[in-house]
Amino acid sequence: MNVLLVGSGGREHAIAWALAKSKRNGGTACAANVVNVPIQPVGPLFSNLVGFAVENNVELVVAGPEQPLVEGIHAAFRKVGIACFGPSKEAARIEGSKAFSKEFMARHHIPTAAYKTFTKFEDAKAYIEAFKGSFVIKADGLAAGKGVLLPETVAEGIEGLKSIMVDSIFGSAGAEVVIEERMTGEEVSILALSDGYTVIPFPAAQDHKRAYDGDKGPNTGGMGAYAPAPVYTSDLAAEVKRTILQPAIDGMRRDGFPFVGVLFAGLMLTPTGPKVVEFNCRFGDPETQTVLPLLDDHCDLAEIMLACTQGRLDAVPVAFKRQVAVTVVGAAKGYPGTYEKGKTIPVPPSIDANTHIFHAGTALKDGKLVSSGGRVLAVTATAATIPEALINAYKTLDLVKFEGMEYRIDIAHRAVKLLETRAKTGTTY
Ligand code: AMP
Repeated sequence: MNVLLVGSGGREHAIAWALAKSKRNGGTACAANVVNVPIQPVGPLFSNLVGFAVENNVELVVAGPEQPLVEGIHAAFRKVGIACFGPSKEAARIEGSKAFSKEFMARHHIPTAAYKTFTKFEDAKAYIEAFKGSFVIKADGLAAGKGVLLPETVAEGIEGLKSIMVDSIFGSAGAEVVIEERMTGEEVSILALSDGYTVIPFPAAQDHKRAYDGDKGPNTGGMGAYAPAPVYTSDLAAEVKRTILQPAIDGMRRDGFPFVGVLFAGLMLTPTGPKVVEFNCRFGDPETQTVLPLLDDHCDLAEIMLACTQGRLDAVPVAFKRQVAVTVVGAAKGYPGTYEKGKTIPVPPSIDANTHIFHAGTALKDGKLVSSGGRVLAVTATAATIPEALINAYKTLDLVKFEGMEYRIDIAHRAVKLLETRAKTGTTY
């Protein structure tokens, strides 16, 4: 089966790796049957991409990033009869518009922070001035992950609000804002497969957004992740499926825009229960690099995705290894600010069978592998325990260390601490 995977980051490398293992692709689990094509996914018609797919007998399109989904890549391929794993433009509004997403959650009684939306700066300013407690400001549209402000004071909030609504730093994405109460608690990422009816979550992941150890420093695209997160107990998983995931999938279908693809629920485990911080309409990065290696070996990602596009996810096996996975990102010196490029990356002759190297910002130059992005690569290790996976991940990261490589040495620190406490107190889940 020819699959067209849209995107070029670490997330897409992990998806490509999992798809290459498919029986439909010869089950090689290697890069031999993966070909890169430099076509930009430009909406609204995606003509170049659609033309390429038709010419090359593509049977399944998998859309990695949110932008082409929000712009309607699903319909562009449906028009020519090619199945697309990823939601329609209408369903992708769950990520594309925070105001839409909040209204959807309110309509379907999905737990989330209390909120109000504004299109006028003066109204939003007055609301902040009268707000009791801490608040969060969110630009409505896509803002490359930068549209959320967590101000510490009212003055800081008003300044942020002005930059979004008056100075338009995010363009039209900031024409409307959501202001919501600030929640507290641990965050978990739930990536869930859906065909519009059935919803099957991957093991819960936790990521590390800050650049430096101890969760300090500037925000990044993610410096590492691990799954399953021990804080996410089976009771919590059952509650989230019942109160968040299934109502979201049912709600979107009943509202007339069924969701096919990966629904990514960013949750906060608040003192009053799990609540939605945000929904995304696609796989997360780096969580994908963490959870895909946990898919059971007898499961076939291409079959699963195809089944999702055909409304029969319940008819294919989806199961996960009883293991843990840890992902450590290697970033370029200076990231997330201005960073170095063109550093030679060593290519180890072999690595441990339970570790994977996923490329995110790399390129071939004169036959040599060099860095070309901020987050350069990620190493994922699977093992029976988190400490074991950590040792293996860092061992492999050492083999691909390039000049100036920055990485965190405390990935999964919360999980390690929690497991130690549980071991001491004899608590089991
Ligand atoms: P988002 O892009 O909506 O995921 O927001 C980015 C980050 O901002 C989240 O991962 C949270 O850490 C934080 N955040 C967003 N909304 C809230 C909220 N209502 N309360 C506390 N933190 C939040």
